[in-house]
Formats: sequence, structure tokens, C-alpha cells
Amino acid sequence: MNFLETKNLSKTYPNGVEAVKSINLKIDKGEIYGLIGPNGAGKSTTIRILMGILEPTSGSVHFDGSSGIDLAKTGYLPECANFYRFMTIREYLEWSCSLYDLSDCETNIEESLITVGLENLRERKLDEISKGQKQRVGIAQALVHDPDLLILDEPTSGLDPLGKKKILTIIKGLADQGKTILTSSHILPELSQVCTGVGIIRDGELVLQGLMADLRKEFVTSNLELGFESSAGTLIEEIESLDFVSEVEEMDGERTRYIVRIKDEKRAKKDLPRVILDSEAVVTYYDFAQVTLEDIFMETMEEG
Ligand code: ADP
Ligand code: MG
Repeated sequence: MNFLETKNLSKTYPNGVEAVKSINLKIDKGEIYGLIGPNGAGKSTTIRILMGILEPTSGSVHFDGSSGIDLAKTGYLPECANFYRFMTIREYLEWSCSLYDLSDCETNIEESLITVGLENLRERKLDEISKGQKQRVGIAQALVHDPDLLILDEPTSGLDPLGKKKILTIIKGLADQGKTILTSSHILPELSQVCTGVGIIRDGELVLQGLMADLRKEFVTSNLELGFESSAGTLIEEIESLDFVSEVEEMDGERTRYIVRIKDEKRAKKDLPRVILDSEAVVTYYDFAQVTLEDIFMETMEEG
């Protein structure tokens, strides 16, 4: 059994929206798991069910071998964290700490502040700090009881590149300390440098799930862009039938520009030029380009 998993988790809101459709999340201990999907895909609904804020319509949540999440071992950054603006960072964290049964809040607060790099701003009021700093206060709040699992709903959303980078560095550091992290985002490239696992959610369905390393191996290929002076004739059908080619896509409707999706790059580089030379076609463009997991993700999202 995984550290955190859901079994056929579904949620239909009273207005009839099926926000989550039979999702089976599988998250191992120590993983940084990215739940990725466009706006409205069902990420926050899933997360709110995990946190026990929403009841699922059907299905179940399992955490560390038990049914349901243990809130004493879980920290949560909501999507739109609302802060008590008049409080200082320290006061807010003290208040957060008071929600848990802890013997030494001061030490926990100090450690959380250091983890998010806000130890020098502790007396600053919450309405006098930047958006990026607020997100980091939100993470400190989620960490204040030293949880094993952290659930962060779009922690980098709306931040500038530097602010995003800081959050990613914090997430990485927390994983290095042994914490398990579930974080959501509407774009994969934003999280892909730090994620070890990923689940792609679209229209409430988990369309893809796996370890980043496996997905990269499985999906990363190369494309060959081909251009011809005039119609390439039967050459295209010939290329399409080669066993190291997965498909050929026409780009212009005039049979002069194509993208050839390659299964085996080494063989394509060696054998394809001969096939082209043996035909009558005149090549004007020939370029191999690497396709990354991020490219595939972008394409999947655009199709939807
Ligand atoms: P995400 O976090 O991926 O952007 P959400 O989980 O917030 O997606 O929303 C998933 C779907 O459920 C959307 O179609 C959204 O409009 C709908 N939805 C979200 N919250 C509610 C609600 N409280 N009542 C009814 N529908 C909702
Ligand atoms: Mg959301």
C-alpha cells in the first residue's frame, strides 16, 4: 500500500458538476508528487477531499495504512490562503500552532520560519509583505506542527520567476528532510524540475500517473521536421511504414511540410536519409528536435 492513496475517489457537487471521477492516486513516502491539470480539472476538489473539508460522493482516502488522513501529521496550504492581515507573521504562526497540541511552539515556529527564509521578517504585519512572502508564510503555517505529509494547492501560482524558484527550493528541501509532498499546479513545466511523481488530471479524470523518470523514458522522443520543394508524393506513405517511425503529420495541407514522430532516433538518423534520397522528392528542410515531457504535456492540454 502507498503512503497516500485514493480508491475510486469521486465527487459530484450539488449543482451536478462531476468534479472528480474515480481517481486512484498513488503517492509513496518521500515523494514530491505533482498533481497537474488546467483550471477546473478537479485538483482543489481532490485536495479538499483529502483534507476532509469535502465529503467524497464515493471512494476512499488511505494514509499510512489507515483510512482517512491524519490531520496531526498533515500540513495544508489552501489555494487562496486568507490571512489575518493585522497579525504579524509571528502572531499568525503562534495562532496556527495553538490549533495543535504541541509542547514547544516557539521552537517549531522558529524552525518553520528558517525553512521558508522569513526569520528576519517575523515582526512584519501580514498586509505589509509581498505575495511571494505570503505564500511562504502559508507554507510555514503548514509546517508548524512538523507534519509528515504536506499538501500544497498551487503554491507557485501568481508568483514571479524568483518567487516560484524560492518555493520550489523550499519544497525540495522539505523532501530532503523526508517529508512527503503533494503539490498542485496548472502547468507541468513549473514543477517538473522538483517532482519525482506526477499525476495529470483533466476534466476530473486522472489521465496519466507515474514516476517522472519513467514518464520521461517512455514519452521523450524526437521529431523530425521535413520540408519539400513540392509535393513529396508517395515518399510520405513510405516513411510512415518504417518500423522506427510512429506517425507522420502533415503541417500545411500542401504535402510539402511534415513532422515525423520517431520511435528510434538512432536508426532514424542512420536509415532515413537513404529512404529520402532514393525517392524523387527534393528536401528543403531537415531538422531533428527533442520532444520533452513538458512539450507532450502542453500538447495534451491544448487538445483539451
Ligand atoms: P481546479 O482546482 O483543478 O482548478 P476545482 O476542483 O476547483 O478545479 O474545480 C473542478 C470543477 O468543479 C470545476 O468545474 C468547478 O467549476 C467545479 N466546482 C468547484 N467548486 C465547486 C462548488 N463548490 N460547487 C460546484 N462546483 C464546483
Ligand atoms: Mg484549484
